[in-house]
Amino acid sequence: MTDFKGHCHCGKTEWTAKLEKDQQAHILCHCNTCKELSGSTFTLNQIIPTKALKITKGDDLGKYTYKGDSGKSVYCYYCKNCTSHVYHLQEALGEDKIVLRTGLLKEGIKNFQPGAEIFGKDRLSWEKEVAQTFEVMPPS
Ligand SMILES: [Zn+2]
Ligand SMILES: [Zn+2]
Repeated sequence: MTDFKGHCHCGKTEWTAKLEKDQQAHILCHCNTCKELSGSTFTLNQIIPTKALKITKGDDLGKYTYKGDSGKSVYCYYCKNCTSHVYHLQEALGEDKIVLRTGLLKEGIKNFQPGAEIFGKDRLSWEKEVAQTFEVMPPS
């Protein structure tokens, strides 16, 4: 386990995530919601235990809720000042897991490699495959 520090764009929110070796990679999500929320072509994520994340500064995150494909709610937690998304909690995954934005980890964005790609069906035609790709999600 290694501690990774992250901070939002404005610096009012800071956090530390404890990641196992096999979690030290980006899962690229190409879904259309990620495109809309990020304004980019994919997001960088990792599913980790909720208790592995500690907000160390500015524990007053905004919360945006939408219905995921499963019909269950997804809660997005973001810095109220600059809107950087710190993590998402999916009702479908349960309360004890969260989807962490690995692209906001200072050492993560520099050093992590792509581990897998999900929602490959929505990947833009000009984007090259950089890791094992699943049409939607890996079989559980
Ligand atoms: Zn901020
Ligand atoms: Zn997505």
